[in-house]
Amino acid sequence: MEICRVEINENASSSYDILIGRGLFDNLADELKKNPIANSYAVISDSNVGIAHGRRLVKNFRSGGINAHLFTFAAGEKSKSRRTKEIIEDEMLKHELKRDTCIIALGGGVVGDVAGFAAATYMRGVPYIQVPTTLLAQVDSSIGGKVGVNTKYAKNIIGAFYQPKKVIIDLNFLKTLPKNELSNGLAELIKHAAIKDKNFFHFLETNMDEILKYDLDLLKSAVRRSCEIKASVVAQDEKEKGVRMLLNYGHTIGHAIESALSYKIGHGSAISIGMACAARLSAKLGYLQEGSVLRQNNLLSYIGLPHKISHHKLKPKKILQHLVYDKKIVNEKINFVLLNSIGDSFISDEVIMDDIKNVLEEN
Ligand code: ADP
Ligand code: ZN
Repeated sequence: MEICRVEINENASSSYDILIGRGLFDNLADELKKNPIANSYAVISDSNVGIAHGRRLVKNFRSGGINAHLFTFAAGEKSKSRRTKEIIEDEMLKHELKRDTCIIALGGGVVGDVAGFAAATYMRGVPYIQVPTTLLAQVDSSIGGKVGVNTKYAKNIIGAFYQPKKVIIDLNFLKTLPKNELSNGLAELIKHAAIKDKNFFHFLETNMDEILKYDLDLLKSAVRRSCEIKASVVAQDEKEKGVRMLLNYGHTIGHAIESALSYKIGHGSAISIGMACAARLSAKLGYLQEGSVLRQNNLLSYIGLPHKISHHKLKPKKILQHLVYDKKIVNEKINFVLLNSIGDSFISDEVIMDDIKNVLEEN
């Protein structure tokens, strides 16, 4: 087992560990019996993961005499709503779960975000543990404490910053992950490498063949490095006032594409196009070398991710319309993440809408 620490500089008492290994989930109930976080456990999961793994966890708790309940909702992004949160809260209240309850978020990003948000507000806040089961959740959404739900107006627009007590990453979960879900997570891994670590980028280029075959040892190294990068960025800026914005690399255009396509495109595909555009723009503005743009495009293509908007028959104009709604665009100013080189990123305020328009038209 490997441990990566998330130090929250602004509030040291909310710092926590990310545990990474194989088989950690099997020992979770025993581990919490030895070192309890609470008296009762509310396992929140979705319809797929809940049946496959949630029931087993609750059984393990109960066989040790610990009060535990499983709460599930329909798998999928549609469930990431206030309604789902409310239903879970009501169920928890019905079971008379009090403040001495710990929530366990067992599932992908959707579960982590809903369950984490429920933890943030249940009786004004109860502890929670993230047990991410998708690659995307393991390398990205389970770390950093951004929790929340979507509304019909925008995604992730109602929520909180609320750090978990622990993140337990069990690589064994990845064995059953569908290929497209693997690619979604790989897109975020590439993002972390591109913004912070050229050696990691090289590692991904060298080992992508085996990673795509679900080599769990290589995935473990990749997940670990990715967690370290995310943790170090979050440590410096929990509430995204500055450096945490680097994690939005590829996401400004990516989010606009998702929105323009009514979320019928995978997050990995959307940010893949977004990263390709951001790299191209970095080159046009004189920062990034042309060869590096190609390098990134090649790696994205290799795992089957698109880097052209034409893949989705999208017109630049439509994307631009959706860009305007980005909550990170304040007073017409766009904080846009650019690359100096692979592994070296910065936040620029010199990018104007016309630059984005041009790069989309040339894409
Ligand atoms: P994400 O993690 O990409 O944000 P979700 O939370 O919606 O997305 O999870 C994507 C889908 O994958 C859901 O249908 C979920 O039930 C399923 N899923 C989660 N973990 C696994 C796993 N380890 N194996 C197979 N399917 C999984
Ligand atoms: Zn993302």
